[in-house]
Amino acid sequence: MGEKKMISVIVPVYNEEKNVPLFYEKVLPVLNSLTYDWELLFVNDGSCDKSIVELEKLEKNDSRVRVIDFSRNFGKEMAMTAGINFCHGVACIILDADLQHPIEKIPEFIERWEGGAEVVIGIRKKNKGEGLVKKVGSYLFYKLINQISEMKIVTRATDYRLLDRVVIDEFNLFTEKNRMTRALVDWLGFRREYIYFEANERIYGVPAYNFWKLLRLAFNSIISFSLLPLRLAGYLGAFITLFSGVAGFYILLGKYFFHTHFASTFSDSENLAILIVFLVGIILISIGLLALYIANIHVEVENRPLYIIRKTKKK
Ligand code: UDP
Ligand code: MG
Repeated sequence: MGEKKMISVIVPVYNEEKNVPLFYEKVLPVLNSLTYDWELLFVNDGSCDKSIVELEKLEKNDSRVRVIDFSRNFGKEMAMTAGINFCHGVACIILDADLQHPIEKIPEFIERWEGGAEVVIGIRKKNKGEGLVKKVGSYLFYKLINQISEMKIVTRATDYRLLDRVVIDEFNLFTEKNRMTRALVDWLGFRREYIYFEANERIYGVPAYNFWKLLRLAFNSIISFSLLPLRLAGYLGAFITLFSGVAGFYILLGKYFFHTHFASTFSDSENLAILIVFLVGIILISIGLLALYIANIHVEVENRPLYIIRKTKKK
């Protein structure tokens, strides 16, 4: 009785030895100003520098700091997942260790949550010092995924988020292996609110997410949130079959029945080519059909819950 509720702050860490002490120093006054108890949960994602030494130092000196240490680098998505799995708070806030997510916004996230939001999402206004490739890439990614998937993702939404305990509990039921944490959180629904912030520049170290890593993440999320790529073969096949079928039929009739001049200009090998294209179209259609079955299996294997119920909160 009378005990304060706890907020968990989850921080994925990969090669941030210089940022870790700085982060702690800066986040401490912010967390202490809250009217909640807090825990600071670092997930060391197989860093190959001295991050773990720094983290263990903090853990030793401050009982509110906890460290999860991965055996190797599993990627930020898994680090965040582990943090969400292991946090104890009535809500958790996820943010980057490199101070790019402004920590002074933490109280604002909490205010929104107190006001009834179950998910509070940080939206980047614009990224200082972001390369053109990354800018264009992320623009295209959001355009594409919003076009082809059944679920809408807000452009520039970041991993800087607050999740209520009800959301955490639902999130912990996901079993899929290839995951984009923020997309899964979006899939869950719940009452959401947005906070706009300007991302800071990274002070120490380099961003771990290079072009290829981001591209892979983008591919994975497109595949797990849309079945369109699977169906494409079928659509293409239908188009080819229809087109070459009509052409072949037209030439066949023209050549042998109506003896039109146009049809007789096609040589035998050209006719053969049309026949082959027609058959390729049929093969593609068959692949498309197979894809429909695979799509079914895909959904079954993902094993997402059929629906999410917002539990009545006991407060
Ligand atoms: N990170 C991680 N595992 C990785 C890559 C990154 O835990 O494999 C962490 C990293 O330490 C940082 C956050 O994820 O706290 C964001 O990484 P980064 O700054 O490299 O990405 P960006 O800011 O470009 O999105
Ligand atoms: Mg960063």
